[in-house]
Amino acid sequence: MIVFDLACTDSHRFEGWFASSAEFERQQGRGLIVCPYCGDTQVVKAPMAPAVPAKTNARGADRAVPVAGNAPPPAMQQALAALAKAQAEMLKDSKWVGRKFAETSRQMHYGDAEHRPIHGQATLAEAKALVEEGVTVAPLPLPVAPPEELN
Ligand SMILES: [Zn+2]
Repeated sequence: MIVFDLACTDSHRFEGWFASSAEFERQQGRGLIVCPYCGDTQVVKAPMAPAVPAKTNARGADRAVPVAGNAPPPAMQQALAALAKAQAEMLKDSKWVGRKFAETSRQMHYGDAEHRPIHGQATLAEAKALVEEGVTVAPLPLPVAPPEELN
């Protein structure tokens, strides 16, 4: 039994267990190796992480910064998927108003516009001002792509 670190074209990393190196190549050639995160079959052996950091002259470059070399574990992927589904359900009847969120919320709050569920973008300052005026707003757990960017 041999274990390979594998990576898909989206750079998701995962382990694959094979009877032999030849068996890995056979499965890879037939597209039988599937990324558990995105279903991609363009899977290759992941390059080894360099053991020695690249030399640099920049001061402070050796300061530790948080990094993730691996895709989130499947449990987290599932949690995110469930969250995304819940959010999509919540926004099903909601209208995207983009950057007009603060303006539209205010109009509805003061009766200048018909009340309806909306979602859009607001700066932190705008959201804070709305809350202070008594307008009910809530941050969405996940970012929402504006509809015009989905095309
Ligand atoms: Zn993937």
